[in-house]
Amino acid sequence: MRLVLLGAPGSGKGTQATRLKSTLGVPHISTGDLLRAAVAAGTPLGLKAKAVMEAGQLVSDDIVLGMLEQRLAQADAQAGFILDGYPRNLVQVQALDALLARLRRPLDAVVKLQVPSAAIIARTALRHQAEGRADDDPDTVRKRLAVYAEQTAPVAEHYTRAGTLRVVDGVGSLDEVFARIMAALSAAPVAATAR
Ligand code: ADP
Repeated sequence: MRLVLLGAPGSGKGTQATRLKSTLGVPHISTGDLLRAAVAAGTPLGLKAKAVMEAGQLVSDDIVLGMLEQRLAQADAQAGFILDGYPRNLVQVQALDALLARLRRPLDAVVKLQVPSAAIIARTALRHQAEGRADDDPDTVRKRLAVYAEQTAPVAEHYTRAGTLRVVDGVGSLDEVFARIMAALSAAPVAATAR
């Protein structure tokens, strides 16, 4: 299964992806996690990314694509993947389409978790207290939501047109949301036109 999870910052993608990973038996690939690992390791790429991430902006498309390509080349990703945090703008949509076409591994489904902004602001404030992620402070969350509305909302429109998008209500318990995602996946037509 090759799956993309879309949703605003704090919509619960990461949490659901962790569950999906064991159910579907494919790795969870989060570009946010890959970037945070590069920042923590202090690599040249991480040093470049750090300030951009802390400002709530997007890291450059080239850097993220390079990282993703390397990750998809690893053995565990050959059976499929759950992509979380990518693509985040229309340039990345085109880059992903081109990359997966070259690898002859088209997407099976795109799932969008729908959560109202008020719930997102409340959730990320809790996460900020619990985990201390620098970009979860309320001001930066507002910036990330603005970037999401401007750059990532068109990504969902693209996959709607492509016929691969499934929208799932992301408000509810973790179990409820997980069950909705699984139901949406079994209802999803495996993108026959893309093969
Ligand atoms: P969230 O989905 O909660 O915003 P992530 O962990 O996915 O958090 O991403 C955190 C930050 O990492 C983003 O605000 C952005 O700066 C950077 N980032 C992650 N994925 C991408 C991407 N595909 N393109 C550009 N920047 C990215």
